[in-house]
Amino acid sequence: MSKPVNLDILNSGQVRNDWSITEIEAIYNQPFNDLLFAAQSIHRQHFNPNEVQTSTLLSIKTGACPEDCAYCPQSGHYNTGLSKEQLMAIDEVISKAQQAKKNGATRFCMGAAWRSPREKDLSVVLEMVKQVKSMGLETCVTLGMLTDEQASQLADAGLDYYNHNLDTSPEYYQQIITTRTYENRLDTLQNVRDAGINVCSGGIIGMGEQTQDRYGLIQQLANMPEHPQSVPINMLVAVEGTPLGEVEKLDSIDFVRMIATARIVMPKSYVRLSAGREDMNKETQTLCFTAGANSIFYGEKLLTTANPEAEADMQLFKQLGIKPEGSEVSAEELTVPVPEKKEMFYDATQA
Ligand code: SF4
Repeated sequence: MSKPVNLDILNSGQVRNDWSITEIEAIYNQPFNDLLFAAQSIHRQHFNPNEVQTSTLLSIKTGACPEDCAYCPQSGHYNTGLSKEQLMAIDEVISKAQQAKKNGATRFCMGAAWRSPREKDLSVVLEMVKQVKSMGLETCVTLGMLTDEQASQLADAGLDYYNHNLDTSPEYYQQIITTRTYENRLDTLQNVRDAGINVCSGGIIGMGEQTQDRYGLIQQLANMPEHPQSVPINMLVAVEGTPLGEVEKLDSIDFVRMIATARIVMPKSYVRLSAGREDMNKETQTLCFTAGANSIFYGEKLLTTANPEAEADMQLFKQLGIKPEGSEVSAEELTVPVPEKKEMFYDATQA
């Protein structure tokens, strides 16, 4: 029989790695004001409540991915009209990174639609990491599955973060991806941790999963040997042509509950408000910040899906009195050039 839950204890901000589904369920379902109050109180114990970390995401290799992630327009299994691109040239990536830095981003994330990187491609990415890092930006990449050796090579190049999402609960996972297992994902995350690279791992909600699956996702993330340093919570962006193209839109209150629950059970992690922001009004985004979200993707596009324009982000930051964390540019000073039409930023739902 499971132990009775005591919400005062659960809401106290203890760092634990043994969360039960019953406990996560109790946190998620408590009265909304209590949930927000607990999440914001915990948030303040570890972070400046008026700062948000900003990352820019660039797709360095787009489309034709052999995996079959049901939400992803980059999968070669679905026809979404997305044009495929080769691995970008290093110079081009560096110029995008310079632009991102000028626009106030402190972390530059590079994503490639691969099952796992080939040796010759990885050597190019290693050079990108070294050069971006030398510009004073934090570096993050998402390249698919990694062996322990590849993770060590990336660590040696100075990589700060590796993104690899769990996407959903182990139970619902088979409905979303069949070409690699949940275990494969956990193994990659283990390799990344062992190499001393910070882990960025989260999931997507609104994919037709049950609420139980959301608890399951949070449990997997929170019960890792170490909490991921960064936890992106994505709201599905339904893309026509993918199997999830017609899924009913998620209720925004459920999304805020998910952010708050992640904040409470992983008190020291950056919780990232990721894909799906374009569909959220500023009130929903504000509730997410109150619930403890303290990181966003920032830029014109998250690859194939629109992202609120950088200027709109800074406008909202100004209204809320939020500062971009660690940025050399304040929200007041920021003037964001209109990005070129063809610029494509990477999809935050990328695994
Ligand atoms: S989410 Fe990543 S691994 Fe899955 S299909 Fe898209 S690019 Fe490939």
